[in-house]
Amino acid sequence: MRKKIVAGNWKMNTDYPQGLWLASEVVNMVNDEVLSNVTVILAPPFSHLYGVGQLIKESPKVHLAAQNCGSEKSGAFTGEVSASMVKSVGAEYVIIGHSERRHIYGENNAMVERKIKLSLETGLYPIFCCGETLNERNSGKHFQVINSQLEEALFELTENEISRVVIAYEPVWAIGTGVNATSHQAQEIHHFIRNSIKEKYGESISDSTSILYGGSCNSKNAKELFCNPDVDGGLIGGASLKSREFVDIIKMI
Ligand code: PEP
Repeated sequence: MRKKIVAGNWKMNTDYPQGLWLASEVVNMVNDEVLSNVTVILAPPFSHLYGVGQLIKESPKVHLAAQNCGSEKSGAFTGEVSASMVKSVGAEYVIIGHSERRHIYGENNAMVERKIKLSLETGLYPIFCCGETLNERNSGKHFQVINSQLEEALFELTENEISRVVIAYEPVWAIGTGVNATSHQAQEIHHFIRNSIKEKYGESISDSTSILYGGSCNSKNAKELFCNPDVDGGLIGGASLKSREFVDIIKMI
């Protein structure tokens, strides 16, 4: 059976003490309140990875992710942080291809594919983000866009490699806007993604791939999003910065 996952993407928020405080609150609440078999992932900024990693050792349910990694192994790339660096400070997962990376920093599918390969080689589990813009949805191109993102960034992977990838469907128009995809819209795209994996890699891999929804998910809408058969949890941005709200979302799984 595939994993249920709720991941918190803190983006460029919290200073180091605030980050440690937030992580410790989440760990305590998860330990006390979360009974279901869910994998909780925290993705703090790079600077907090080691410290947050030390804190979450207290909780077997809580795991560590980086929000990004470099597209090269090592070398003269000032300001970049490599996949092996984030692995070496305790991260198990890495978010790759987030829409903010694609749209603000110009990352394309080829670069996303390189990062996924490097993170897999390093032993990390990539959380691959895909999703269409509002214009693309309004012009009926959403399936086509998701299809190209899958084909160009993921579908060169071997069966063994794809089995280690978590997918996050994050419609760009829903990220940080307060407008979430409806339950129907989310299920429709998640089913499309799972079916594309099935066509390419077969049923056993598609059945065991976790596909998360992201985009203005909160404790009020999480239940109706998560109860869909192809939605295996969420990638949560803004709402992951408040421990109470984040843990309430986790409890909707
Ligand atoms: C995100 O950035 O991955 C995200 C889902 O953000 P938000 O929950 O704030 O829409």
